Amino acid sequence: MNPPEPGHGPLGLFGGTFDPIHHGHLRLAETAREALTLDRVRIIPAGQPPHRAAPGASGPDRLAMARLATADNPAFEVDPAEVEALQASFTIVTLERLRAELGPTRPLVLLLGVDAFLGLPTWRRWAELFDFAHIAVANRPGYSLDTAQMPPALARLCAARQAPAHILHGAPGGSLVQFDMTPLAISATDIRTRRAAGLSLRYLLPAPVIDYISTHRLYL
Ligand code: ATP
Repeated sequence: MNPPEPGHGPLGLFGGTFDPIHHGHLRLAETAREALTLDRVRIIPAGQPPHRAAPGASGPDRLAMARLATADNPAFEVDPAEVEALQASFTIVTLERLRAELGPTRPLVLLLGVDAFLGLPTWRRWAELFDFAHIAVANRPGYSLDTAQMPPALARLCAARQAPAHILHGAPGGSLVQFDMTPLAISATDIRTRRAAGLSLRYLLPAPVIDYISTHRLYL
């Protein structure tokens, strides 16, 4: 198969609190781009996440850190819409917006770590996500994608939707794929805890993001 023209191949969509963005996130996005032959990856920091406590850093700070972290990768872009919306972020609403923006045929691939995937049944209108996009799940240390351990509805979804990665190029959405990444047991929670304890953050996240955290006195 010839590579798709830029702007027409599958677009990865990677949402998260990114409080702050770290090398686990960036490696997931880069691995997905390569393993799933995505055209680009759009990183979408959440505004006010409905599923969890308020982030430690403001939306504009998390957006600024995502921009700093991705500035050197031409295949990554940062979407400010959820932060700028100043209201609760729901992935289904973002997918509706992106479908309207990008047209009905472009493959969209929602990228999730296993922990996020396991929480899917708590998301608003979660069964409709596949009407708008594919879902690609990356492994994450400490979590397993074992259908025997999943809520039955999620296990049924895995059985019905699971497909090989090349399917992503042939349809705008509807399939579930898995991909392996080098396990990196980095979490934003651990980074915030280290920062509050005055410990080094070096090599856990990009240096410009560490500088931003220190200049703006975040997570103290
Ligand atoms: P927190 O510790 O604050 O919960 P987090 O590090 O889990 O944050 P999120 O912004 O909640 O980061 O995660 C966004 C997405 O990135 C989720 O799909 C999550 O599964 C994935 N993710 C985060 N860290 C990793 C990692 N180290 N390896 C693989 N996936 C990850």
